[in-house]
Amino acid sequence: MPYVFPPPETVAVPVKDSGDSFAVNRIYCVGQNYSDHVKEMGGDPKKNPPVFFSKPANAIVVDNVPVKYATATTNLHYEVELVVALGSGGTNIEASEALQCVYGYAVGIDFTRRDLQAEAKESGRPWDTAKGFDQSAPVSAISPFENEKHHGDGRITLSLNGEIKQDSTLNQMIWSVAEIIAELSRFYELKAGDLIFTGTPAGVSSVSSGDRIKAAITGVGEIEFDILD
Ligand code: MN
Repeated sequence: MPYVFPPPETVAVPVKDSGDSFAVNRIYCVGQNYSDHVKEMGGDPKKNPPVFFSKPANAIVVDNVPVKYATATTNLHYEVELVVALGSGGTNIEASEALQCVYGYAVGIDFTRRDLQAEAKESGRPWDTAKGFDQSAPVSAISPFENEKHHGDGRITLSLNGEIKQDSTLNQMIWSVAEIIAELSRFYELKAGDLIFTGTPAGVSSVSSGDRIKAAITGVGEIEFDILD
């Protein structure tokens, strides 16, 4: 049967150094997964498990395309994150088996309307408008993992107009990639094509139109783009 209007295009992320693309299914995100960032946001890293939330797949931006400053906010924040790309999935996955689901890794930005997130936290309301908006998930090409080290313990950095703002290492994550996959799979049936943003280290702050963001994870990838009016 014909569609009443053209169906949306498949969202795809390039696979590094190949002509292949990774078709995106869902985007899951972890909040509060680096102890220094939990402290800067006023929390106790050991008190609560990570928060899960999601973004729509079409929030993805690839190929260093410029990002338009989001509507309805005056406090748009960057958060650099390790992104896990799943090549398979399941439910109730054991942590010991979880890394078998991983296809590869990328570096991404979890853009956040921090003013709306603060209001949502204050009033106990959902985070959707603070997190799941258009162009809120720029991501690098995906690097298929090549050995048992997976993402390694590489340095994760973000610079704003050439000044380093976030600088940590992946071994500072409170929950590991395997633990995140296992926990997420208790709530959702994970599938090939899912992306998981794994949380950000300390140093988040706001951007303005005209800014240039560069983010990198050693051994994983990098991304560099402008914020437009
Ligand atoms: Mn985040």
